[in-house]
Amino acid sequence: MTTIGILGGGQLARMLALAGAPLGVRFRVLDQNPDACAGQVAPLVVADYADEPALAAFAKSVDVVTFDFENVPARAAETVAARVPVFPNPGALAVAQDRLAEKTLFNALGLATPEFAAVDSREDLAHALARIGTPSVLKTRRLGYDGKGQYRLRSASDADAAWRALGGVPLVLERFVAFEREVSVIAVRTRDGDFRAWPLTRNWHRDGILSASLAPDAADAAFADQAFAAARRVAERLDYVGVFALEIFVEDGRLLGNEMAPRVHNSGHWTIEGAETSQFENHVRAVLGWPLGSTALRQPSAMLNFVGALPDAMPVLALPGAHWHDYGKSPRTGRKVGHATIHAPTGTDLAERLARLGDALGRPAQVGPVIDALGPAAG
Ligand code: AMP
Repeated sequence: MTTIGILGGGQLARMLALAGAPLGVRFRVLDQNPDACAGQVAPLVVADYADEPALAAFAKSVDVVTFDFENVPARAAETVAARVPVFPNPGALAVAQDRLAEKTLFNALGLATPEFAAVDSREDLAHALARIGTPSVLKTRRLGYDGKGQYRLRSASDADAAWRALGGVPLVLERFVAFEREVSVIAVRTRDGDFRAWPLTRNWHRDGILSASLAPDAADAAFADQAFAAARRVAERLDYVGVFALEIFVEDGRLLGNEMAPRVHNSGHWTIEGAETSQFENHVRAVLGWPLGSTALRQPSAMLNFVGALPDAMPVLALPGAHWHDYGKSPRTGRKVGHATIHAPTGTDLAERLARLGDALGRPAQVGPVIDALGPAAG
């Protein structure tokens, strides 16, 4: 019997455990919060990431360790890695935790990014603004997610307010991109270097939080290949093992790398029902050194996130091609509490089903951009 330990016990750990169960894999989850929702489906160890003895005991109780949460302190990852194999490796995690390090890596590997500058002082911010201009976004280098730790500057006169909001920790200023669209590569790499990507996913955010995803993105094949090649170079450079997401802005038809998430990713949730093998199952396979499953599309799919509180499931469950995911979390503003996936044999059918889903949820605005992207000619 094989047991995977997961640092972080949120919905990603929960979906990993659910995907691994049919393969006969056991899980054990560590989280600081006794209510962590993965604890509903796998044994939960409640401990602080600074509690070295607890981390050491956790490492000894499992065969391999992975993450549901990229902001695990580097020291905690290293404590565990000294005792048991850890995938992705702590070095890869360290790069992905730091916006400056990851953008620098993207550039070194030939993936352009929005222009950026490190900001460690108010003077740095003035220099960075002189170079990059506005609109721009000031972001914390670490610990930012779902739009947290970001301040948008519309003009140079916003500099003081931005500094007051975020100053005091390492920051990065980047140009605000008027992108045509946002896409993500969800990819997986094994210990032997087998690399696979799921069809390119298009994403829509609201208030910095993912709102909806669509796969496959309607981009032409050459464009998708460019994105996959960039993801592959990143994975190879980091000797990455497991699933990761590479988030990309598309501006004037050009790819600009935004960030990478060193874990299974919200924009890959559609793969549970929409792909031959889900991101969760392939992550389990990769960290165990097992062969990967096919990442091929089963049907065009869309995913809608539920943030704050869950709507009523019943009207959604009644729809053809719809699937419901309740993470078992209590409602809270800005918190991801569940998602729905819907798939259909063709893009045209998917647009039709999405319209019905939007009606069932009373959320036409959330499905609208996805339906538009599918377009009248989709199919
Ligand atoms: P991030 O945490 O960097 O993924 O940012 C969350 C979301 O904010 C992104 O998915 C974009 O929708 C938006 N965003 C972040 N950075 C930029 C940027 N430089 N230009 C335009 N939009 C951005």
